[in-house]
Amino acid sequence: MTIRATTTIKELRAVLRAKEISPCEVIESYHRRCKTYNHELGAFLEIFKPETLEYSSGEQAPLWGIPGAIKDTICQQGRLTTCASKILENFVSPFDATVVARLKAAGAVPIGRTNCDEFAMGSSGETSAYQKTKNPWDLTRVPGGSSSGSAAAVAAGLVPWALGSETGGSVRQPAALCGIVGSKPTYGLLSRYGLIAYASSTDVIGVLTRTVYDNALVLGALAGADGKDSTGLPVQGPLDYTRALTGKLKPGLKIGIVTNALQAQGIDAGVTKLLEQVILDYQKMGAEIVELALPTMEYSAAVYFMISRAEAASNLARFDGVRYGYSCKEAKTLEDLYEQTRGIGFGREVIKRLLIGNYVLSAGHADQFYASACTVRRMMRAEFLSAFKNVDLLFFPVSPAPAFKLGAFDNDPLQMDLQDYFTCPINLVGIPAVAVPCGFVDGLPVGFQLAGPDCSEELIFQTCYAYEQTREWYKQVPDWVRE
Ligand code: GLN
Repeated sequence: MTIRATTTIKELRAVLRAKEISPCEVIESYHRRCKTYNHELGAFLEIFKPETLEYSSGEQAPLWGIPGAIKDTICQQGRLTTCASKILENFVSPFDATVVARLKAAGAVPIGRTNCDEFAMGSSGETSAYQKTKNPWDLTRVPGGSSSGSAAAVAAGLVPWALGSETGGSVRQPAALCGIVGSKPTYGLLSRYGLIAYASSTDVIGVLTRTVYDNALVLGALAGADGKDSTGLPVQGPLDYTRALTGKLKPGLKIGIVTNALQAQGIDAGVTKLLEQVILDYQKMGAEIVELALPTMEYSAAVYFMISRAEAASNLARFDGVRYGYSCKEAKTLEDLYEQTRGIGFGREVIKRLLIGNYVLSAGHADQFYASACTVRRMMRAEFLSAFKNVDLLFFPVSPAPAFKLGAFDNDPLQMDLQDYFTCPINLVGIPAVAVPCGFVDGLPVGFQLAGPDCSEELIFQTCYAYEQTREWYKQVPDWVRE
């Protein structure tokens, strides 16, 4: 079998099990693709040498011999894990994140470490201290972020799956801008042990793949409680989400169309047209479409701004030049060491966020900013959960427009922050959502997302899969990576 950019995990599993190809041949083939295309794409910070890879499980394991990539915010034992930051440039993780350990136990083989925004702070991949990843559909455009490298690598067929992490949309937004599937599970469904924290109350690990089936397969293998993460849900993993993928909708399915999201200012007309087509497709498949409004969504970008910065300031205090990573050698006093290590080690976007985070947490301001944001967040959750009394799932755009040009928002941080407008509400509320491709505007991919109540991943995958089967966008790949 020839491995192509469009090859899915499902196809690979079939040929591996039939012994038409060996895991080593699969890995070598992907390794070659990575070496050929990464130069131009900048998706990987590191492609592991084949002789250093671990093949730990037997052929019965669900992901036996399937290579993939891990975002550089997730720890891999014995490998550099830098969060695409200079401050962790020499940090070699002494342990595997739980998700990495579970992938390996399921037979999967991580073959590299992907670029991202520094400490996952960004929506374009451009804040990485090392390189800028390009969008495989147009190399002058961003792939989205912060899981920029993971999305670009899967979209270009350099790997069939990749892990990302998201706090405000960092898996779904790049998935949509690169034309692939991105899942954001219920908060706590996957262990965060070994995910370097950005904003702990919304951080989750998510999966990027070409198809809904592949995504359901990988996410299910990672799901479930882990004694090492006390915020985890009491769910016994692994889970099999693929059994729900029948190609049919749940009888009587009600999809809520969030009118204030679809009519939001600034959505590209081409994107709106594609989203409307998806709604028609669902109607044709038998779903009942219910229009509703979620007024608290209007506050989500502001609430996310406060909460993410505040929690980041607290989490990133540990990078001080004493324990991990970069340490400024010229410093004479401890105070200088902190100041210079952090001043040199962190990039501009991270520093800006830490300043804001410390400010919104400071005495006299914490109630005004942080506590108010937490109050609004609780109201948002109540509003979303009450919507689920009337509908099974909610339909949203992912990104207001297709991928933008590299550098487009260099002088417009507000526009960059508004990239999270449709994604961060889901993180604040803690519910699951999956982004799925729904066509192209001027040759650039567009996605939609379905969100559901806590732990409704199975229903979301079932519903996304039924749509995907009718349109098959995953068969498209950028011309230059075709072979
Ligand atoms: N773009 C958002 C931010 O910069 C989301 C990032 C993320 O989900 N990690 O905070």
